[in-house]
Amino acid sequence: MRHYVVVGSGVAGLSAAEVLRERDPGATISLVYEEPHSFYSRPGLAYLLADLVPEEQLFARTQAELRDLRLNWIHARAAQLLPEAHQVVLSNGQGLTYDRLLIATGSTAVPPDFPGGDLAGVVKLDNLDDARRILKLARRRRAAVVIGGGITALELVEGLRARGVRTHYFLRGDRYWANVLDEAESHIVQERLKAEGVVIHYRTEIEAALGRKTLAGVETTTGEKLPCHILGVAIGVRPRLELAQPAKLKLDRGILVDEFLRTSAPDVFAAGDVAQVRDPRSGRAILDTLWSTALAQGRAAGANMAGAEVPYVKQVALNVTQLAGLMTTIIGAVGSGRDQDLVTISRGNSEAWSLLPQAQVIIEKHDVNRVRLLVGERTLVGAVVMGDQTLSRPLHRLIAEQADITPIRAALAADPASALSLISDFYAEWERDHVTPAH
Ligand SMILES: Cc1cc2nc3c(=O)[nH]c(=O)nc-3n(C[C@H](O)[C@H](O)[C@H](O)COP(=O)(O)OP(=O)(O)OC[C@H]3O[C@@H](n4cnc5c(N)ncnc54)[C@H](O)[C@@H]3O)c2cc1C
Repeated sequence: MRHYVVVGSGVAGLSAAEVLRERDPGATISLVYEEPHSFYSRPGLAYLLADLVPEEQLFARTQAELRDLRLNWIHARAAQLLPEAHQVVLSNGQGLTYDRLLIATGSTAVPPDFPGGDLAGVVKLDNLDDARRILKLARRRRAAVVIGGGITALELVEGLRARGVRTHYFLRGDRYWANVLDEAESHIVQERLKAEGVVIHYRTEIEAALGRKTLAGVETTTGEKLPCHILGVAIGVRPRLELAQPAKLKLDRGILVDEFLRTSAPDVFAAGDVAQVRDPRSGRAILDTLWSTALAQGRAAGANMAGAEVPYVKQVALNVTQLAGLMTTIIGAVGSGRDQDLVTISRGNSEAWSLLPQAQVIIEKHDVNRVRLLVGERTLVGAVVMGDQTLSRPLHRLIAEQADITPIRAALAADPASALSLISDFYAEWERDHVTPAH
């Protein structure tokens, strides 16, 4: 009887455990988890902060469903990996010997590197305990400053605003999320934030967080002081490599894995935010911090740990999210360059989005409804759909399945204002010959 050990009870770890149980009903499966909560939706934390869902709704499995998996739940931190001995040592000193191990330890916020970064009131948003802490602080309804870029910064800004906290958003550069959005898209988001009462400070950086033990305010690099009792920091995330690094697994920015999610150590697999997988479109090993990717990788890793030998093929990166209350879908390669507000990848992001190949940009817009298409030589390579989502599924399929759009390419370039109807008509015809792939 095999012993599988999974470290991390996020979506990658849990979905791996579910597949392992399906494929190997008699096996012993140990799930080592450090957070004191049952499995929950991490993207849902934004909805909790903004008071759109109660906490109970974040728990994505019932207790009965979790019990049915017949897992050996071990509430501890995996402290050390000894690949040659096939052992994981836990924080309580216990050693667990595995036949196959999955590292699904996720990622964590990059700590701030300014004085006062450790004051009470300086917060990040990695997990449920962080969200609870922020909600408690927000009850005082004074003022908050948020720094950083990407989705998490915006979620902090909107969550605090929704809770009645006067919220200042500091941007190092001229605009929001510059490595993914274009100027007009950033502008739409910024205008919506302002309309919600958020005060945006452009080209503004923090010199220090001020206070004795507790945060009292911030000082900017130009010497301006702003009183606040919450400082939300969202300057990027890093894969959690505490287990993998000392065990000398092959690393880049994450744990490098092959197409079966195998690491460089025998019988050790990695999946989710912590893993760095080859992207067939760019040919590069890239990082994703996407829920859907972590879920798919967890399932593939589970199957391969159980002996299936099914290669994992990275799908086109997709995120459907709300940006300042505006439904936005981001698909494939859409941006380039750097975002000064981020020191690494942010959450809900894919490095694939910023690996922009040669592409022509075509835009159709109606008020806040906006579609930006990135058109390669024969295929669509990316899209950002803001507002009206009618085209997001068709575009996702056309991009993911690399549909040959040669028949409409010239017309798209010649008449961007008709882009949406050209795509709709083309998709209707293309769809007839292309059955949706099974998930
Ligand atoms: C606020 C927020 C908003 C987000 N928004 C989006 C979004 O809009 N769209 C999107 O696609 N994605 C979003 N994400 C990202 C998405 O949630 C992650 O990509 C996904 O959760 C990654 O899953 P994972 O299982 O790899 O890691 P995680 O969910 O991070 O789980 C890893 C688990 O492992 C545990 N762990 C780590 N080390 C150890 C150890 N040594 N021992 C035991 N346990 C350990 C951690 O405590 C954690 O519970 C968001 C995330 C956050 C936090």
